[in-house]
Amino acid sequence: MAGIREISPVSGTGANEASGVEPFAGTLSRHGLSLARDRVHTLQVNTGYLCNLRCRHCHLEAGPGREEIMSRETMEAVVAFARRFPVQAIDITGGAPELVPGLPFLIEGFAPLAPRLMLRTNLSAINGAAREPLLSLCAAHRVVLVASLPSTNPSQADAQRGAGATESAIAVLKILNAAGYGVEGTGLELDLVSNPVGAFLPAPQDSAERKFRQDLLRRWGIAFNHLYTFANVPLGRFRTWLLRTGNYERYMKTLADGFNPSAVDRLMCRTLLSVSWDGYLYDCDFNLAVGRPPGERRAHVSEVRELPPPGSPIAIGDYCYACTAGSGFT
Ligand code: SF4
Repeated sequence: MAGIREISPVSGTGANEASGVEPFAGTLSRHGLSLARDRVHTLQVNTGYLCNLRCRHCHLEAGPGREEIMSRETMEAVVAFARRFPVQAIDITGGAPELVPGLPFLIEGFAPLAPRLMLRTNLSAINGAAREPLLSLCAAHRVVLVASLPSTNPSQADAQRGAGATESAIAVLKILNAAGYGVEGTGLELDLVSNPVGAFLPAPQDSAERKFRQDLLRRWGIAFNHLYTFANVPLGRFRTWLLRTGNYERYMKTLADGFNPSAVDRLMCRTLLSVSWDGYLYDCDFNLAVGRPPGERRAHVSEVRELPPPGSPIAIGDYCYACTAGSGFT
């Protein structure tokens, strides 16, 4: 079917080993669907795999000691790319972008280029000596902070992220609120992202947002703007954990059984381009994680002369079921 492109296995990732479910491309075909690009409106920029945490659900296997981080030269090329191809939103992610030395350069470079600039944070990495200047810079440019917080239950969240991670995250959320982030009337947006702490689908977003709002306010006096819930993608460290605990096939079946045809039209890969730490383009951060480029070979931002037009194929794998389960990863 036009628009569907299943790419050959990527060595070393394990992403193409038998998952025990119908191939994602087959499920799309059976529903008379295709997955092809619409107009690009978001540029996601992955600054690298260095992180202060080693979360169990991380599809990139980010952590301390990872040496892949975006160089200044690549940052300049990505900013130039964003200038050549204006988008509605730029989303800076990692790893932990706060640990990448050139982050202020990226923020200042991107801020005039898109109406919405987002910075992902695990919260604990925003602590330390660089916090105050970084927060001032973010506030000055109205950068939207998108903070991951798996659960309002500290023991559950620490099980996913490591001992003490929740305490540190709560302390930083209080500091963000004190700086105006998440507080009504300031124009400083603070959103939260929650992933399940095990091999199951996330709670519906509306009810999860209500619970987070009540819990955070009641227990710690913390406010935020929006909560997004996403299923964990069975790649990287999460996939390793699923295999080690004997949950992989059951989890894949849960994702495949939860296939929601109406989520396909709204999948983020239809309107997003993802840039890797070394400056190459992918359809999304998950294809980036397994090294699946959109075409026959990967293209560097410095050599790209046009964006993929609407109708261009998107590289897919069985992990795409994580994006189409339930209300979807859109
Ligand atoms: S993993 Fe999700 S976002 Fe990426 S190509 Fe598959 S469906 Fe699209």
